Amino acid sequence: MAARTGLEADILIIGGGSAGCMAAIRAKELRPDAKVVIFEKGQIQRSGSLCCGMDGLNIVAVPGKDSPELYVEDSTIYAEGIEDYGPSYRMAERSYELMLKLERWGMHFPKDKDGEYTRLKVHHRGKFLVAMDAPQLKTMLADKVLKAGVTVVNRTSATGLLTKDGRVVGATGLNLRTGEFVVCKAKAVILTTGGCARFGLPNSGYLFGTYDFPGNTGDGYALAYQAGAQLTGLECTVVYPLIKDLEAPLMYIILPRGGVAVNVEGKPLGEGQVPHKLLMKEYQEGRGPVFVKMTHLSEDKIREIESILFTTERPVQKRFFEQRGIDFRKDLIELWPTEYYLCGGHGHTGLVINEKAESSLPGLYAAGDVANVPRQHLTGAFVFGEVSAEGAIDSLDKTPQPSIDESQVKEIEANTYLPLQGQGKVDLSTFEYKLRRLINDYAVPPKNSYKLSQAVEWMDKLESAWKTEVKVSDSHELGHWNEVGHILSCARLSAQASLERKESRWGLWHYRSDYPERNDAEFLKHLVVQKGEDGSTKITSKPIQGGVL
Ligand SMILES: Cc1cc2nc3c(=O)[nH]c(=O)nc-3n(C[C@H](O)[C@H](O)[C@H](O)COP(=O)(O)OP(=O)(O)OC[C@H]3O[C@@H](n4cnc5c(N)ncnc54)[C@H](O)[C@@H]3O)c2cc1C
Repeated sequence: MAARTGLEADILIIGGGSAGCMAAIRAKELRPDAKVVIFEKGQIQRSGSLCCGMDGLNIVAVPGKDSPELYVEDSTIYAEGIEDYGPSYRMAERSYELMLKLERWGMHFPKDKDGEYTRLKVHHRGKFLVAMDAPQLKTMLADKVLKAGVTVVNRTSATGLLTKDGRVVGATGLNLRTGEFVVCKAKAVILTTGGCARFGLPNSGYLFGTYDFPGNTGDGYALAYQAGAQLTGLECTVVYPLIKDLEAPLMYIILPRGGVAVNVEGKPLGEGQVPHKLLMKEYQEGRGPVFVKMTHLSEDKIREIESILFTTERPVQKRFFEQRGIDFRKDLIELWPTEYYLCGGHGHTGLVINEKAESSLPGLYAAGDVANVPRQHLTGAFVFGEVSAEGAIDSLDKTPQPSIDESQVKEIEANTYLPLQGQGKVDLSTFEYKLRRLINDYAVPPKNSYKLSQAVEWMDKLESAWKTEVKVSDSHELGHWNEVGHILSCARLSAQASLERKESRWGLWHYRSDYPERNDAEFLKHLVVQKGEDGSTKITSKPIQGGVL
């Protein structure tokens, strides 16, 4: 048995990214004496999708300009109707206060010549993207977390949620450096582990060369499913057109500032918009690649764009373009589709939550990309980080001290360390490559019944090989092995949900060649995935929650 560390917390936050940091800061603001613990798989100063900073808060309803109601109207169009009103409204309603708070914390939101915040148009309606100049956002948040007295357990990856009498009472983790098993009891648990970035294999073939943070491997989806929580939107396999070979974002930066997307013949596509779905159609129908063009822009405008691209989100872009000899003044930027992935921030996949960030399991909250609030981006991670902390703090006095079921802890411990007992020979990275190649083959669009059934069958076969045949020699590889298990679970759940949604929706994201049309009569509803009593996957449906809060 591995060495064990025991911790007790009022609130345990799993994942120290955008939502996790914000949840911890808010909990300490409300109750400075609360014991708040974060399990972070990486190192909190740089972990997660944020890692440096961001150039825009994608959803801000600036009073007097755009309303939360208009935002929900817009996002419902993008979600093609599969969106609950409550959480999206709550996010938009709190977005402006959130922005002002970030500003008070020293983040810069540029203003135009009239002294108004720079609002950019990337949605169908309104101008909800507010420009932000905040390259130090993640380190600022991490410093605040540490200064508030939060216990940050870095390099510790959650491996199981602990439940007692139907309530979530803590979690287990694996220390990736020492191999120690960490058990933390908590009155409330907030899940903020991001999406599943390592899902399909990127064109480059690099396992970690993904658009989103490669440490996000759907752990939250898999752990919540195991614990019995409801998930939804797993059939929405997201893909975006981004810089070929670099997978770095640029559309929301360049297009609202006058750049245009063009096809191979140089013809503009979706002028005046950020036409993700239209661009993906070019690839779907064999007309790709597509490009971003800035050659018509003034030198001043190009410099403004460069100063954002090369400093804030992924500063490596400067070196990338220089080494390839690409100059925006005369060259186009070639875009290619990213790998397919699962995400509540850019797509629709996540735990079912309400506007209080409560999941379907008592004691468990979820915020950010792990939760289903369609296309909530950074705003959603921050707002629901705060909302979940408020709910968790409010629950503390009403919740008895948690007690845990030792037999459950032992079972999770045995599963976490399983490969160390065996004689596996297959190299772990080779195994992950094969798994993700099969995801590309069978679990992503264009989907059809045969391919999706193959995906489920392959995941079953691979699961047994993953348990018995993969070689793991140290605690780092053990963490990697656990991640691969989570990717595998996500792939199976995604294929199962995709089989159920016998229609096409969200452009290429859920395109079924055997059901090419959208079918609102039968499928204007959430598909809810949950572990059944007998251990099999249960898929039910839930009506869309419309209307005012
Ligand atoms: C390249 C890029 C650019 C973006 N640009 C913008 C933008 O300009 N504006 C905007 O509004 N949005 C933007 N977004 C979206 C936004 O960044 C995300 O929606 C948001 O940061 C998600 O926050 P999160 O806390 O859910 O996930 P993350 O910030 O990714 O945090 C998840 C954390 O969980 C940890 N973790 C994972 N599994 C475990 C485990 N088992 N145990 C412990 N810890 C674990 C990870 O290490 C990570 O630190 C961008 C996203 C990307 C990828």
